[in-house]
Amino acid sequence: MKKWFKRAAFAAVCALHLGSAAAADVVIDAGHGGKDHGALGTLGKHQYMEKDFALDMSLQLRKHLRQQGFSVAMTRTDDTFRPLGQRLAYGRKHCRKLFASVHVNAAKNNPRANGVHTYVLQGNDATAVGKKSLQIARNVQKAFNPKRPEVRRARFVTLQNTTCPSVQLEMYFMSNKADLKKLADKRQRRAIAGKLAKVIGTSLKQRDAKAKAKPAPSAVKPQTSKPAAKPSRPRVPAKAAAKDKPAPLKKAAPKTAAKPKAKR
Ligand SMILES: [Zn+2]
Repeated sequence: MKKWFKRAAFAAVCALHLGSAAAADVVIDAGHGGKDHGALGTLGKHQYMEKDFALDMSLQLRKHLRQQGFSVAMTRTDDTFRPLGQRLAYGRKHCRKLFASVHVNAAKNNPRANGVHTYVLQGNDATAVGKKSLQIARNVQKAFNPKRPEVRRARFVTLQNTTCPSVQLEMYFMSNKADLKKLADKRQRRAIAGKLAKVIGTSLKQRDAKAKAKPAPSAVKPQTSKPAAKPSRPRVPAKAAAKDKPAPLKKAAPKTAAKPKAKR
């Protein structure tokens, strides 16, 4: 099959599966779903699945971002399985400002591993899209984990969007009891999503204000009634990414429950 035909067929399938929504400021990608439950965690007799937390936090994130005036689309809004390639294709087609994958981390062999970790595409720091991705990830990382502000690099399938800034947000650990307690508590979980929405919304608005303050050389501005953009917070110089451990990811195949890290 010719490449272009394959691509067209794939896009058609994606449109069918995910709906042909218009472009959105933010595309939220709730990790896992359906037969792919992601990482598991246990508290007493209760077993929890990553896919449920990811969806609930994503729906909350959508609600809050909409309240802030952003248009939001999602790769899934219920307990449905979506292959990674479809998610990526959807993001490439519909994302305007940010593609955010929401997951919960797991480290089977290290129950002490905890907290929030953010990821951007490995080897993409120098591009405009890469810089924007990094800025958002850094803001989230700093807000949730000021003592460990480094953003990690990886080649997850859903990060491989060269047109729209993309981040993967690993919101705490299924494998850490204290983290899991936090996630299992609806109020705390929703507070996490609210905080996340605040950081993302503020970051996007700062970025927009910055872009407005710096008109493109060819742009003819008829009249601007808006005041000049407020200076954004001073940028922290990017730390060398050397520390960041890339996690290999080859195929879009859903991970099985047996894997220690149910990430993509
Ligand atoms: Zn995951």
